[in-house]
Amino acid sequence: MTAITLVGARVVDPASGTDAVANVTIEAGLVTAVGTEVGAQRLDADGLVLSPGLVDLHVHLREPGHENAETIATGTAAAAAGGYTAICPMANTDPVCDHAGVVEQVLRLARDAGLCDVLPVGAITKGLKGDELAEIGAMAAVGVRCFSDDGRPVGSARVMHRALAYARTWDAILANHAEEASLTEGAQCNEGDISTLLGLEGWPSEAEDIMVARDLLLAHGMGARLHVPHVSTRGGVELIRAAKARGTRVTAEATPHHFTLTEEAVTGYDPVFKVNPPLRTKDDVEAVRAGLADGTLDAIATDHAPHPPEQKEQEWAQAPPGMLGLETALAVTLTELVDGGVLTLSQAIAALSTNPARSRDITGHGGPVAPGAPANLMLFDPAARWKVDPHALHSRSRNTPYGGREVSGRIVHTLLRGVFTVRDGELV
Ligand SMILES: [Zn+2]
Repeated sequence: MTAITLVGARVVDPASGTDAVANVTIEAGLVTAVGTEVGAQRLDADGLVLSPGLVDLHVHLREPGHENAETIATGTAAAAAGGYTAICPMANTDPVCDHAGVVEQVLRLARDAGLCDVLPVGAITKGLKGDELAEIGAMAAVGVRCFSDDGRPVGSARVMHRALAYARTWDAILANHAEEASLTEGAQCNEGDISTLLGLEGWPSEAEDIMVARDLLLAHGMGARLHVPHVSTRGGVELIRAAKARGTRVTAEATPHHFTLTEEAVTGYDPVFKVNPPLRTKDDVEAVRAGLADGTLDAIATDHAPHPPEQKEQEWAQAPPGMLGLETALAVTLTELVDGGVLTLSQAIAALSTNPARSRDITGHGGPVAPGAPANLMLFDPAARWKVDPHALHSRSRNTPYGGREVSGRIVHTLLRGVFTVRDGELV
């Protein structure tokens, strides 16, 4: 394999603290030089930003079982198109990923697609039913690092306690969907003036805060690792900030929709804005942004949740919750948080790549962009403006809440171990 050099990009690599124009040379899947060297082939990257490929801790790929919404092939295509080189699909497939057989099936399908590394999340409980523990040990033995019943909370503190104790044996991470279900029965949107106005059952922010608090206390007492998914409330951010200050082993993520959209979007009853946890208030959005800025929230994760039109485009009450995210996360983050002055570019890349990789022990991703490291990279044009077109996405579904919105920052190349998965903006 001949060496190829990406010439003249601005290298933004939070893992090494680099932010400088440099040539990056790649050979046999590895970065071999960062500096002035030039290999046998050169590719002009002037004006582009080169960073470690993005890492998503929270996606739903729907396969096996719901291939009409997404497959591992289409989901990893969407990931590559969005600049991702590693993604972690949740366990709520059919069959549920609660034993090693499903883990191995997902890994095999992802390898066949070859577009993005896929690190399956295993279920905490069998069938996501919340009572009997899943085969955590057998799944850990085939490489699973994180367990979650995402979509459903582990309601019983006793079961969560046992699961944390079990996961601790492998130093694995539990990510519990934070929802106290007795407070959210029939809930359709955030509880407040808007739910009252619309006549919809409300999902109070306290239902999230209570579960976050419970899990933080359990994890702290046991010295176990907890990850809080899709933090959407001011209370959740404040609880996690306090827990980190007292040494709890916790990491947390925010989704692009929870730091850009508010419950106001729900007033048109367009089900594309229906999501769980729901879109919250402006005050919650500000708290989530502040949490990303001060590192309370480590990662930006998409909670990419495809649904086919025949399911999603129903009346509000019938439509399933969930939004696409993989192909818009970078641009939405750049537009809203970097251009908006909330994060520096390096902080944004850290939240989208370096921090999620480290928080889940994912090696070879998230940088550093340095000689000897796998060439898992993405390059984007920060100046490119584009309009989100739901029909132009690579996902099998089209339920993006950003349709028609103009954003900044377009993926030009994505490389997985030195192989282009996206080149010149086109999927390879
Ligand atoms: Zn969830």
